[in-house]
Amino acid sequence: MGKAHYLLLLSLSLAACDDNDGDTPPNQTDAVVATDGGAESDMAIASDGGPTPDAGPDAGPQTLQCAVAIVGGGAGGTHTAFRLAPTLGDGVCLFEREAKLGGRIKDVAFDDNDPTSPRVGTGARRVMETQGVLFALADELDITLETPPDAANLTEARGAFAFSKEALLPQYPGLMADAGGDTETALYDALRLGPERATTGNYPNFEAYVRAVVGDVGYDYLRDMSRFRADFEYDLDAEGYLDYLDEEWDVCCEPSYPQGGMSSFIFGMEARATADGARIFKGEAVTAVNKVADGYELTTANRTVHADKVVLAVPPSAFEQIGGDVADRIKAQPEFQAIVGVKVVTITQWWENAWWSVIRNPMADTDANVWRAWTTEHCLNFIEIPIEPYAAAGKITRSVYDDNLDCAIFWEQLAAQGTEAVEAELNTQLTALFNNGVSDPATVEIPMPIKTFVQVWPDAWHWIKGGTGLSNAEVFTWSVAPLGEEPVSLVGEAYNVRRSGWSDGAYKSSIRVLNEKYGLTLNIPGSTKAARTHRRLWSQGRH
Ligand SMILES: Cc1cc2nc3c(=O)[nH]c(=O)nc-3n(C[C@H](O)[C@H](O)[C@H](O)COP(=O)(O)OP(=O)(O)OC[C@H]3O[C@@H](n4cnc5c(N)ncnc54)[C@H](O)[C@@H]3O)c2cc1C
Repeated sequence: MGKAHYLLLLSLSLAACDDNDGDTPPNQTDAVVATDGGAESDMAIASDGGPTPDAGPDAGPQTLQCAVAIVGGGAGGTHTAFRLAPTLGDGVCLFEREAKLGGRIKDVAFDDNDPTSPRVGTGARRVMETQGVLFALADELDITLETPPDAANLTEARGAFAFSKEALLPQYPGLMADAGGDTETALYDALRLGPERATTGNYPNFEAYVRAVVGDVGYDYLRDMSRFRADFEYDLDAEGYLDYLDEEWDVCCEPSYPQGGMSSFIFGMEARATADGARIFKGEAVTAVNKVADGYELTTANRTVHADKVVLAVPPSAFEQIGGDVADRIKAQPEFQAIVGVKVVTITQWWENAWWSVIRNPMADTDANVWRAWTTEHCLNFIEIPIEPYAAAGKITRSVYDDNLDCAIFWEQLAAQGTEAVEAELNTQLTALFNNGVSDPATVEIPMPIKTFVQVWPDAWHWIKGGTGLSNAEVFTWSVAPLGEEPVSLVGEAYNVRRSGWSDGAYKSSIRVLNEKYGLTLNIPGSTKAARTHRRLWSQGRH
């Protein structure tokens, strides 16, 4: 579908919702909309069993002395506190803006107050075979990982449906089919391994490089076959993206899902850090970081914190709310300005019945049940149905996963009108997706959900912008010591964009800072599988 057509549909759809809104008051009871990581969070989530009680902004002394102040309790910040606490004890202070730790690792449940209600990720959900750091951490924290069987992927492109991407080639006239039967891989091989790779610096961004190497139709095909539209649509550095792709290509194949959701990692580390004496302050944003004569001074709403060292474990967008000369000096640097975040919306839904369980690929003998479907035709973009036993028991779908900017804005605006508007739109889109002429049964009636949760991620993951001339490696190295000799470090996925979109990136960033700046000797384990299972399709990877 052309972009103009797409935008027209979006505006028509929004206008239709505006009309409805006058007649039907939005249902506020089961609507949950959360925006994390932006200027302010409009939602406080009920505690779902994290190991320490939430400390309000008034808890504890008004002035604090800390050996290390960590700003941000996502995967990177929590890991840093967890590793430093055994030696520094209560010298470790962590400040988290939200009521719970986790950041982009945020699981929600049908009933957040019921510990038996399965938690499912609105951000991170899974661990891949090559991510040895996560497997080692799971062992250390006694987290059980589940590996569900493979299942069928359905793709809709330009109005045609198929269970194989090759079968969609007729939608792309002029594109030569690969003799080996895997045109998508052949096109990626041309981008990654062809002679033009040496010339990426000549292109303003990845999109321009793709169009030059595989043509406009090749570009359209790759974008449409991918669930991740932003990779092709944002202004991304060509070599930076390809460098990511070099590693990502092997990030597959069998996914593992932690029981309790990915926040099991966060809660496990939080419990250990707290037991070792670390002081964790939740619901307490740091608003300024300044250099003072004998260290650093951090400001929160109710506290002044003196620290010898500082770890800023927040992504670049969070710096909009952090003042002070330390933050300002970091923000002024080209490496910081080279990083761009991608806006993503996920919508999670809970159902009375698992209506999807009958939908299958009639041509497949094994792994025939549909668990993922993506489309170029609707802002739903991509539905994932958790089939790992822990989450499957909750009868949950992640009905929307969209990184196209126009669509992310569409869902955000629709959600502002209330749950009924979102649920009605999704019912239409899911009905179109699963009444498609290729899957079995031919007719699927989509019921109404019993709960819908909209999550807006203003910067879900990060890349290097086009034209900055900086490599992933240069930005990563800079982040370890962005102020030279000063004991200030940046930690997180945002600074390790070679691992964009993976908590693995945040953990590796934390490990690097701990090893290079705090004298630790943490190992980065490789793949845990002696012989990794073989990638069959590009779509087996990513999250
Ligand atoms: C939709 C989606 C799907 C994903 N899927 C996967 C997956 O399947 N597997 C996987 O491994 N990874 C996945 N990821 C990536 C993973 O979630 C992130 O890479 C990782 O959680 C990032 O951790 P971080 O510590 O770098 O940053 P964040 O999680 O962003 O942590 C930063 C923290 O800082 C806090 N903060 C911000 N400002 C302040 C302030 N002023 N004061 C105090 N605190 C502040 C924030 O509230 C936040 O808690 C996914 C991400 C998204 C969004």
